Parts: sequence; C-alpha cells; structure tokens
Amino acid sequence: MIIKRSVFLRNIALGMSASLVLAACGGADTADTAEGEATTDEAATTEETVGVLKVATEPAFPPFEFQNDDGELDGFDIDLMTAIGETAGLEVQFESLPFDGIIPALQAGTVDAAISGMTITEERLQTVDFSRPYIKAGLAIAVQTDNAEVAGLDDLEDKKIAVQIGTTGADQAAEIPGAEISTFDSAPLALQELANGNVDAVINDAPVTLDAIASGNIDGLKVVGELLTTEFYGIAMPKDSENVEVVNDAIMTMMEDGTYAEIYQKWFGEEPPELPESAF
Ligand code: GLN
Repeated sequence: MIIKRSVFLRNIALGMSASLVLAACGGADTADTAEGEATTDEAATTEETVGVLKVATEPAFPPFEFQNDDGELDGFDIDLMTAIGETAGLEVQFESLPFDGIIPALQAGTVDAAISGMTITEERLQTVDFSRPYIKAGLAIAVQTDNAEVAGLDDLEDKKIAVQIGTTGADQAAEIPGAEISTFDSAPLALQELANGNVDAVINDAPVTLDAIASGNIDGLKVVGELLTTEFYGIAMPKDSENVEVVNDAIMTMMEDGTYAEIYQKWFGEEPPELPESAF
C-alpha cells in the first residue's frame, strides 16, 4: 500500500496524467520491494514541498522588485522570497499588485504574504503582521541636479512634491506645511515627473532613488540632505498568520548559513549590516 501511494505522489509531482498514474499503480505489483525505500523517501519529499505561498509584490521598485529585460520578476526581494520558500519547503507564487492594493489583499486573504520594499510601520501593524526586519532603508529627498535651493526638509515648504501613493514617502510629504503634493502609482513615475521639471522634489526610499540615478534610468536628478528616516522592511502577512513564524525561521536560517549575505552581496555589493530583531 505504501509503495502504491508513493508511486502515486511521485507521478503527481512529475505532472503525469491520471491514466498514467493508474497504469503505474497497476505495475507496482511486480517491481515492488527493491525500490520500496527509495520511493517512500521520494513521497516524503513530495509531501514537504506541496505548500504554496501566494506573495504579492509591486514590481516597479528596483533594485528590490522589477521586471527584467526578459519580462521576469527580479530583484533583492524576489531572490530573498524565493530563497525563503526553498528554505521553508514552500512554493512561492508571485502576484503583481499595485502598492496601495497590497494591504487590502492581505486583509481579504487573496494573498498569503507580500514582499514589496514595505516599511514596518505602527500604522500598518494595526492591520497586518510583519516578519522580522530583513533590510534597513530610509527616505531621501531628490531634486533636479541644478537645484541649489533645496538642501533639506525645511526647504520644501510650499514646494511641489511628487510621491508614490500609499507610501511612507507620501506620509512624510503630507506633513510639510504648504506643500503641493502629487501622487503617482509607482516611484519611477514620481521621479520622472521631477526629471520633467513638473515638481520641485520627490520623497522616496533612498536605495530606490539612488538606484534610479546610478543606473541611468532617470536623468538629471540628485539626492540632497540627510536621510529623513530610518526604516526597516518586512514581509507582510495577514494578522495572526501561521506563516509569520515559518518565514521568520527561514530568514534566521538564511542569516546564519550565509544565504542572506550572498543575496545581499549580489544586489548591494557589500556585506549586510547588522539588523535589529524587531523594528520597534
Ligand atoms: N518603503 C515604502 C513604504 O513602505 C515604499 C514601498 C514601495 O513603494 N514599494 O511605504
């Protein structure tokens, strides 16, 4: 009986049709015991990898998530989440969503998790849970290269500022007295608005703005002043999701066995800095 079950599971794993599965079961009578142990092991492996984790991301936030030249999802977050899936024995299926649709999707339970350069904030913690911090970031001000007027947050009063909707950058801009704020669906669109000269500044995550400038994706911009905030990104999950522990265990394992450092090196070209265990 055990052998028949393992043959069945193995064939499911190979994507064979139902009729072939039946044929294989029929043949198991003659070619049985010699293979018994091995096939049972295979069945165990198959059973461990059947869990699927649907993970939302907004893929216009390089170097964290973007579509590469082959049209595939790529980036630090994508590599990290894929490795978390491998470590935890879960199949990760990515789903692209607008950034401001991610938390509603988690609340509705249409996705199991989200990795999208998402800052762990007190406000978001009211509606979703987060993994432990997996990277440190912060907000920066970008202006046109020839702008000699704006050197920091105080200089943004009464100015035109572009931000990405639903982000910590948008929250920060909303606090600036007299600022005229325009919102965009993605960070690259906000930066392009600045490059086009339609606004005075963009408030956005520093690593993403710096990457846009360094990669030449956007021309004629510079970052000014100090980082406005220190923020930690986390993987968001529905409140009380049992996956929080699974994901945290996988991140810890990868921080200890060098997998995390390898992915960090690949995208940022240096050793990862120490991270706190929790954002607050
Ligand atoms: N880190 C910012 C936030 O969480 C921006 C994230 C993003 O645009 N993907 O609001």
